[in-house]
Amino acid sequence: MTKRKGTGRLKWILLLVMLVAAAWVLYSATLRGPNVSIEITTDRPAIGPGTAVHAVFGAERWGLGAIRLVFEQGSCRKVLAEQTLTRPSAFDLLAAASAGARAELEAEVGRGTIDCLSEGPATIFAEAERMSGPLRGEKWSRVSKELPVRLRPPSIQVLSTAHYVTQGGSGVVAFHVSRTAQRSGVRVGQREIDSHPHPRGGEGDRIALFGVPWDMGDAGQIRLFAEDDAGNRAETAFIIGRQFRPRAPRKDVIRLPDSFLERVVPAIEGQSPGLDTSGTLIERYLRINQRLRAANRATVAGLAARSADRPLWDGPFLQLPNSARRAGFAERRTYLYQGKVVDHQTHLGLDLASVAHADVPAPNSGQVLLAGFLGIYGNVVIIDHGLGLLSLSAHLSRVLVSEGESVTKGQTIGRSGATGLAGGDHLHLGIFAGGIAVSPMEWLDGSWIRNRIEPALAVGATPDSADKK
Ligand SMILES: [Zn+2]
Repeated sequence: MTKRKGTGRLKWILLLVMLVAAAWVLYSATLRGPNVSIEITTDRPAIGPGTAVHAVFGAERWGLGAIRLVFEQGSCRKVLAEQTLTRPSAFDLLAAASAGARAELEAEVGRGTIDCLSEGPATIFAEAERMSGPLRGEKWSRVSKELPVRLRPPSIQVLSTAHYVTQGGSGVVAFHVSRTAQRSGVRVGQREIDSHPHPRGGEGDRIALFGVPWDMGDAGQIRLFAEDDAGNRAETAFIIGRQFRPRAPRKDVIRLPDSFLERVVPAIEGQSPGLDTSGTLIERYLRINQRLRAANRATVAGLAARSADRPLWDGPFLQLPNSARRAGFAERRTYLYQGKVVDHQTHLGLDLASVAHADVPAPNSGQVLLAGFLGIYGNVVIIDHGLGLLSLSAHLSRVLVSEGESVTKGQTIGRSGATGLAGGDHLHLGIFAGGIAVSPMEWLDGSWIRNRIEPALAVGATPDSADKK
C-alpha cells in the first residue's frame, strides 16, 4: 500500500518539474530573449584629438535588432554610429533560433568629431536591441566605458642651451615635460627618437641624444616633441638659426673587379639565410649592396631601443691604434662595374687601416648588444654606450666578446679583418645616435664631448617647475 502511494506522489513531482521546465523554455524563447554580448575597445586610454572606438556585438540566437555607439559627457550627447540589422522572419522560428549574429561598429571620437567636448570624464555606451521573439517587444542591452577627455597638450621647457649641431653629426638636448606627457623626445624628419629620464634631473626632466642625418640640409625638421596618452602633441624648435652647420658629403668612386665580387658575394650569401641568391654575380652583389645594406642598418637602428638610460661611455672614443684613416663619414660612392655606373651608396662610418689582424679595442665602455655576423658589415661587435649611443666595429676576422658582456674602453673586443663588404683588412667604425648613423669624428674629440654633450648632462633638476609641487 505505502509503495503505491509513494509512486503516485513521485508522478506528481515529475509532472510539476516538467511544467516548470516547459514554462522556462516558453519564457526564454518568447519573452526574455537571448543574451547579447557587447565589448568596447579603444586605441587610446583617453579622448583627445581622435580616439578610435570599436564595439563588437554578439547574440547566440535570434540575431540582433539595432546597434548603436553613443558618446555622453554631461549634456553633451552624440550618436557616433548606428545600424539596424535585418531580422529573420518571425515565422521562420527554426532558422532564427539557430542563427547566431555578430556585428561591429567603429567610430572616431575626439575634438574633430564632437564640438561640445570638454576636459573631464566621459562615457561611451554601446547598445544593442535584443532580437524579439514572437511575443517580445524591444529590449536593449547596454555596456559602457569611462574615458577621460584631455584637450591640452603636455608642456615642454628646454633646459639646455646652445644646441650646436653639424649635418651628419650628433646633438643632445635636456628638457622638462609636464606630468601628462607619456612619450617625449626629438623628431628628426619622419623618425622619432625617444628621450631618457635625465640622469641628474628630477621628475619630468628628460634628455635626448639624437643624430642629424648626413642628407638633412637644415634644422627645420628637428623638433622636440611630447605626447600624452590621448594623442595631444606639442612640438618645439630648439636649434636656432646658425646653430646648424651644413656639411656637404664627399665623393668617391669604387671599382668592382670580378675577383672582388667572387670573394665577397658567396661569403655573405652563405651567412645570410633567406637572402635571394639568383642572378648574375653583379646582380647578386647589387642585392647585397642595396637591400641587405638597408636591412643591416635597420637592424642597428632597432637596437637603440635597448640602450641604457644613463651614459656608459667614459670620455672620448678610441680610434684603432696606429691606424690610418682611409674612407670618411658620408662619402657618396659611385660604383663602377666594367666601366659602367651600377650603383650609388653612402658610406656611413670611418675606415681605419692598421696591420692585418690588429687588436681592435672597445671604442668606449658599454655593454655588447650584438657580437656576430651582420651582412655587409661581416663579423661585428655592436656596443651600447647608453642614452641611445651605439658603436659598431665591423669586418672583424675574430670576435672576442659575447652579447650581454660589459666592456671597458680599450679592452680588446676582436681582431681586424675583411669579412662582409671589405676590399682588404681594415676596421669600419660606425657610430649611431638614436638609430641615426653619425660621424664618429666628433666622438673621437674630447673637447667636442666636453663642450657639446656634457653641459646638457650636467643640467640639474628645475626647482621652480610648477607641476612638481
Ligand atoms: Zn667602411
